[in-house]
Amino acid sequence: MYGKYKEHLSKELANIKEAGLYKNERVITSAQGAEIEVGGLKVLNFCMNNYLGLSNNPELIKAAKEALDTRGYGMSSVRFICGTQDLHKTLEAKIANFFGTEDTILYAAAFDANGGVFEPLFAEQDAIISDSLNHASIIDGVRLSKPVRYRYNNADMADLEERLKESQAQRFRIIVTDGVFSMDGNVAPLDKIKILAEKYNALIMVDESHSAGVVGKTGRGVTELYNIKGEVDIITGTLGKAFGGAIGGFTTGRKEIIEMLRQRSRPYLFSNSIPPSVANAGIKMFDMVSETTHLQDKLHSNTKYFVSKMIEAGFDVKPTESAICAVMLYDAKLSQDFASELLKEGIYVIGFYFPVVPRGEARIRVQLSAAHEKEHLDKALIAFAKVGKALKVIPA
Ligand SMILES: *Cc1c(COP(=O)(O)O)cnc(C)c1O
Repeated sequence: MYGKYKEHLSKELANIKEAGLYKNERVITSAQGAEIEVGGLKVLNFCMNNYLGLSNNPELIKAAKEALDTRGYGMSSVRFICGTQDLHKTLEAKIANFFGTEDTILYAAAFDANGGVFEPLFAEQDAIISDSLNHASIIDGVRLSKPVRYRYNNADMADLEERLKESQAQRFRIIVTDGVFSMDGNVAPLDKIKILAEKYNALIMVDESHSAGVVGKTGRGVTELYNIKGEVDIITGTLGKAFGGAIGGFTTGRKEIIEMLRQRSRPYLFSNSIPPSVANAGIKMFDMVSETTHLQDKLHSNTKYFVSKMIEAGFDVKPTESAICAVMLYDAKLSQDFASELLKEGIYVIGFYFPVVPRGEARIRVQLSAAHEKEHLDKALIAFAKVGKALKVIPA
């Protein structure tokens, strides 16, 4: 049998390559951070989700080691059988405290948090109203559930209002949005969403994976930015980006919602607990980012500095409200050439083009981090200017 199937796969793979969509992994031979080693080359990393620079933080490593020594390597169980240590409970409480919510449930990843949030909470007679640019895991979670599905154009409040009107016959409705949209770096207009939700009787869910630790004065995410902490019904997020970058996800929010998820959410009921080392480092991490905001402050000032210098240099940069800076090039090939030239200058960024972003909107996405020092930013700015002039993106 495999012969024919192999032929089929080989054709498909060839199609992917021909379309220029084949993904290759770049192999890193150092720890994650601002300076990494890729294929024997030392480069500055501007494409990591390590927003607070915690992926290689000595205190988190120490906390992880302590738990390895005292609580072992793995749990070998789902949470409700024998996979819950005090560490998991403490981490859940720290997350709720950070976001100003009532309770939290941990998952192996945010992909699972989103995959397991809709099916247990909403039924055929309900409605899910989802932003068109929401993360793949939200789309999959919605697919696994039975409610009527509505989609509104990215952050378009007039369109959302139409969908809310259309869904009035349904029993319950929930508006679902990413906090930060990862290709543009724009933030969901949660203040306006809140007003519409009240007017049309809808719940709200925000995925803070890209915004937690980053957005808001103290990094509490989009609910902090709009001063509505604790007023959103469901927040999902990841421990795999700003919060240390290891592994793990969570849903935090109203007490009864979390309680129901513990009864019926399938990725929670049927998948393993996160390891004690990750839980203990997570506890330490939430203590660190709650005690002081110096990492959040550094990230904000790095982003402001980089974006303002890029605009000064003449680049077309999307307005950002996060640590994502989209440098618009509009041409797919140019975005790839630009990224390769930058790599030669020791700057590691990724060029994105259709279908990851709309056709004709190719760009380079720069991700800033608290791990970046001023000399890193300046080196990147000099490289951008050099390559920008050589490729005639900015005037020579
Ligand atoms: C990264 C991301 C996820 C997935 O997070 P994992 O914990 O890696 O599964 C989910 N939602 C959004 C919006 C993300 O950016």
